[in-house]
Order: sequence, then C-alpha cells, then structure tokens
Amino acid sequence: MLCAKRAQLHAEGLSLSCQDEWFARPGITDLRKLIRDVPDFPQPGILFKDITPLLAEPAGLALSIELMAQPFRGRDIDAVVGAESRGFIFGTALANALSVGFIPIRKPGKLPWRTRKQEYSLEYGTDKFEVHEDALLAGQNVLLVDDVLATGGTLEACCRLIRGLGANVYAISVLIELSALAGREKVREYQVHSVLRY
Ligand code: AMP
Repeated sequence: MLCAKRAQLHAEGLSLSCQDEWFARPGITDLRKLIRDVPDFPQPGILFKDITPLLAEPAGLALSIELMAQPFRGRDIDAVVGAESRGFIFGTALANALSVGFIPIRKPGKLPWRTRKQEYSLEYGTDKFEVHEDALLAGQNVLLVDDVLATGGTLEACCRLIRGLGANVYAISVLIELSALAGREKVREYQVHSVLRY
C-alpha cells in the first residue's frame, strides 16, 4: 500500500521527502475512505462528495492539507484565495501552511466593503460571487483553493475576479477532481493540482 501510494504521488509530481511516516499510519493510507458518496444530493443525478468525515478525522484533515500545499512550498505565492464556503476551510488551512494570507470570495451581500462581482454556473444551478476590490494588489501571485473541481464554473469565476483585481492566478489546488465533468478544461490556462481524482 505504501509503495502504491508513493508511486501515485510521484506520478503527480509531489515530493515525498517528509511523507513516509504519514502513509505508514493506519487509517489514513487511503483518504478516499474518508469521503462519503451521497447520491442525489442536493438534487437528483448529483453524486455528492461529502468531505465532512475527512474534516472530522484529524490525521485525514492534516494529510489533505499537506498534500494540497506541498507542491507550492517555496514558490512565489503571495496569497491564497478560496470561495464560500468549503473553499474557506481548505483555503485558510493552506494559507497557514504556506505562511501567506487568505482572501475570501463570498456570496452576494456578505462582504462589508466595496466589491467586484462575477456570475458563475454550477453543476447544479447558477450563482454570483463577490470579492473586496482592495483584497489583492496588482501583480500578486495567488493560489486558488477549493474542495472539489466539478464543472469548473466556480473556479473559472474566481479566476476572473482575481484577474479583475490585476493579480495573477499562479495555480489552483483542489482536494477532489471529478474528471468526467472536465472542469480542468474550463481553467486550462492555469496549473491545476488535485490530490484525489474520480
Ligand atoms: P463546479 O463549479 O461545477 O466545479 O463546482 C464546484 C463547487 O461546487 C465546489 O465548491 C464544490 O464544493 C461544489 N460541488 C460541485 N459538485 C460537487 C459534488 N459532486 N460533490 C461535492 N461538491 C460539489
């Protein structure tokens, strides 16, 4: 199991230098076991990836954050951006892991200061996002973070907001990529790092 996980991570371009002891621990050798499939939520036809069991498991949570952050250690990243609401969970943790600040992208009417707005489409519906207009400086490099890359509409909207402020999307890091939905295509101009692919 350890060898298989090492080979998989190596293929994804991750450094394994500090990871052996993580994978030797029982219970977290497969993060997939901590993600619950919920059929027909929030509407018929959607297979929802429920990450709450993973969030509740300390070692699973820590390993997820580590594997999402690791490729970006020592890179020229100025800030992490995450969208409401699960992007806040992973985004804030990654910002902390990379010793940079966190910028929230929120649903309409939640941010108190002046905002930029962007409409986007989801696997199940449409919505709008907002970011504070002074949240990023022109030329800053941003790591964009979310839990799931599905159709890519959410991350594409975030990229537009980030670029609209004059900042650069350095890369995107997600825990889960739903490959069949081809969301990676929508953000193909950026490097996308996903820990788990389904
Ligand atoms: P999308 O814009 O289609 O890439 O959707 C990504 C956003 O919707 C992420 O913020 C996810 O939290 C959520 N999401 C979409 N599809 C799923 C799914 N099948 N399971 C869990 N979350 C999902």
